[in-house]
Amino acid sequence: MLADKDHIFTNLYGQAPWTLEGARRRGVWDNTVAIIQEGSAAIIEEIKASGLRGRGGAGFGTGLKWSFMPKPSERPHYLIVNADESEPGTCKDRDILRFDPHLLLEGAVCAAVAVHAHTVYIYIRGEFVNEARHLQHAINEAYEAGLIGKNACGSGWDCDIYLHRGAGAYVCGEETALLESLEGKKGQPRNKPPFPANAGLYACPTTVNNVETIASVPTILRRSAKWYASIGRPKNAGTKLFCISGHVNTPCNVEESMGIPLRELIEKHAGGVRGGWDHLLAIIPGGSSVPVLPKHLCEDAIMDYDGLSAVGSALGSAGVIVMDQSTDIIAAIARLSRFYMHESCGQCTPCREGTGWIYRTMQRMVRGDATVEEIDTLWDLTKEIEGRTICALGDAAAWPVQGLIRHFRPVMEERIIRARAQAKGAA
Ligand code: SF4
Repeated sequence: MLADKDHIFTNLYGQAPWTLEGARRRGVWDNTVAIIQEGSAAIIEEIKASGLRGRGGAGFGTGLKWSFMPKPSERPHYLIVNADESEPGTCKDRDILRFDPHLLLEGAVCAAVAVHAHTVYIYIRGEFVNEARHLQHAINEAYEAGLIGKNACGSGWDCDIYLHRGAGAYVCGEETALLESLEGKKGQPRNKPPFPANAGLYACPTTVNNVETIASVPTILRRSAKWYASIGRPKNAGTKLFCISGHVNTPCNVEESMGIPLRELIEKHAGGVRGGWDHLLAIIPGGSSVPVLPKHLCEDAIMDYDGLSAVGSALGSAGVIVMDQSTDIIAAIARLSRFYMHESCGQCTPCREGTGWIYRTMQRMVRGDATVEEIDTLWDLTKEIEGRTICALGDAAAWPVQGLIRHFRPVMEERIIRARAQAKGAA
C-alpha cells in the first residue's frame, strides 16, 4: 500500500482549496525556478531515470518521448496536455483538473522546458465545464503571480499556457485527432509517420502528454527519480491513479503504487465487491478498451503494465470496472461495442464498417438470435479490424469482444442454444 508520504496527488478529493494559495500550502510551485534552470537535458534524464510512463493508456516512456523532440530551431515547439479524458470507466484526470490545477500547470512548465516549448495548449474535454473554469482560474492566477508567461517563475524561460475546450468527441483523445481539432479541423486521426515530434501542431515539433503524466513531473523532479523508481516494480514504476467503479461497495478514485494486486486494490479502497469477492463475475481492469478478465484471472492479477499483460489484458487508463454475477456479460460488452461504433470517425473501412458489424452481431448474441458458428465469425471479424486501422480505436472496439469470446464463450453458446430451444418449443 502506498505510504502517505509518497502521495503525489494530495488533494485528490478536493478537501483543501484548489486555488493558488491552497496549492502553495501543499508545496506546489515551490522553487520551480530551480527545476527550470536545470535545463532540458537534465530534466529529460531525470524523468527517464524515474521510469515514468505515459498515464494516458499507451504507457510509453515519458522521458524517451521528450527526447524525440528536435533541437530548438526557428520552428516553434509545442507541448500539448491531453485533458480529453473520455474512456468509459475513467475519471482520474478530472479530479486533478478540478482539485489540483496548479500541479498540472507547474508540470506543464517543467515539461515545456524539456521539449523546448514556449507555448502549451491544454486540450480539455468539452463536457468538463467546471474543470475548465477551475483551470482557467488557475491559469489566470499563475499569470498574475508571474509563474507562467514571460520569464516564468523568474527563470528567464517564457511559457504561455492556453486552455482549449474540445467538443466532446472520444476520438479527439487520440493525439493526432486532438491536433487536427486544435487546428480547427474535423477531429480525425492522422496517418503516422510523420509523428508529432517531427510534424505535430501546425506541422511543428510537438509533444502530447496526458494530464496525470504531466502532473506527476514536478514531484518527481523535486523528490528525485530514485524515489519515484523505488515505488512499484522495475519497468512499472511509480504511483498511479485508479478509478474503481461498478459493483463495489464504495466506488472511488485512489492513488496507489503500481503493482498493487487487483483484489487488494478493490478490497482496501472500494469496500470490496458487492456481495463479497465470491460474487464477482469479471473485471475490466484498464478502461473500456481492454479485454475483460474472468474472476479466476482477477485473483492474482497485478495492477501494472506487465502484470495485466501477463493475464491477457492491459493497464490502459486504469479504469477498473467491476461486474458481479448479476451482470449480463454479453449485454455489457455489447454496450461497449455500441460506444465504439458511435465514436468511430469513419476514416478507415475496417473501423467504420466493422464496428457497426460487431455491434449488430453483438445485439443478436445478447438475444441468442445467432448460430454457434457465428461466434467464430465474430472472432474473425475482430481480427480483421485489430491492427488494420489508422488509430487504436479499431483495436479498442475489437479487444472487449475478443475478451468476451476468450473467457465467456460457453455463456454465449448456452444463450444461443437456449434461445433456439425456446423458439422450437414455441413453434
Ligand atoms: Fe477513425 Fe476508426 Fe480509423 Fe481511428 S480506427 S481513424 S476512429 S475510422
